[in-house]
Amino acid sequence: MSEIVAIEITHHQLLLEPPFPASWDPQPRTKFPVTIVRVRDSDGREGIGSGDVMYGFADYARYFVGQPAGDLQRHAAVLANVEFHAGRPWPLDLALWDLAGKTVDRPVWHMLGGSSPRLRAYASSGVRRPIDEMVAMARRVIEAGFEALKIRFGRPAVSDDIAVVAAVREAVGAELTLMVDCNQAWRMPWDTLPPWDVDKATDVATQLQALGVYWIEEPLHRGDYAGYAELRRRVGIKIAGGEMTREPYEFRELLERDCLDVFQPDCVCSQGISGLAPLARRVVAAGKLFTPHTWGNGIGVLANMHLTAGTAGFEGSQWLEFPYDPPEWSLDRRDYPLHAAIEADAGWVTLSELPGLGIELDEEMLARTASASATFD
Ligand SMILES: [Mg+2]
Repeated sequence: MSEIVAIEITHHQLLLEPPFPASWDPQPRTKFPVTIVRVRDSDGREGIGSGDVMYGFADYARYFVGQPAGDLQRHAAVLANVEFHAGRPWPLDLALWDLAGKTVDRPVWHMLGGSSPRLRAYASSGVRRPIDEMVAMARRVIEAGFEALKIRFGRPAVSDDIAVVAAVREAVGAELTLMVDCNQAWRMPWDTLPPWDVDKATDVATQLQALGVYWIEEPLHRGDYAGYAELRRRVGIKIAGGEMTREPYEFRELLERDCLDVFQPDCVCSQGISGLAPLARRVVAAGKLFTPHTWGNGIGVLANMHLTAGTAGFEGSQWLEFPYDPPEWSLDRRDYPLHAAIEADAGWVTLSELPGLGIELDEEMLARTASASATFD
């Protein structure tokens, strides 16, 4: 078995002109930061990952260099310890899976035991638009072939958010499955707004249920287990969450207390592919949906596609998040580290047979966007 000989971490920032007004961030984003992690082995292969910023990780690289590259379980256990002491080091787990796939010449979805590389995608919007623009956006989504759209909340009054969903439903009827993301589970560092309580969440969920919305996402703080369980007892609409939740014991709690119908951890920032593959199987075995958060760059979209196709599959995921909200969030912006953007075809995405994660980097673009830090402004 080859050994890990080097781990290289680089930061990049794409200038966003015009800026991207992400609905979950009070500050419009003028830069899109990407961190690339490369792990090299003694046979000259390179695995690639991306996701969190990996600040301070250089001090931990020594615990991987010299180790057998394919010992994924051992590496994941060390990464879980690093996460406790430092940040979210999971891009390295992705890179190690990519390397492992290249070593055995198989795509990761296949290594995980998946039976199909195809998943049904939903268009995940990121911008809060006025009613008429949101209706026009929903029509564009249908023209682009999608069968589902996720709408963002966070306007000054929730009644304005509800009015947007009502107008889209009125305009498209049953042509689109609709999801709503309330973004109450976590905040950007500079955002001190408190999350909703269970009564407020119940009121919103009840109204969305009446509009035939498929799921309500993150209506409460991520740690409000009692609130989630109570909300599930009160309403019939599916409840989604867990996108940035970190620890295995937190997910165990969410499962045991019956807090969620839809589990959304993202392998670029929670437990990597190593930790989330068994969780995905547990979630599906419990009769719930596993469909990860994928907002980030195209490498994260690819890694979460492999994870989902390799575990839950179409049956256990139903919908795969496909960040899509042109022009502010175009595929070119989202996937700028990649040689070619990941496209949806008639609302479905298909992984290639390339080994590992199938990442083909645009090295010229990465050189042009190289930066010392990975901030949004
Ligand atoms: Mg979300």
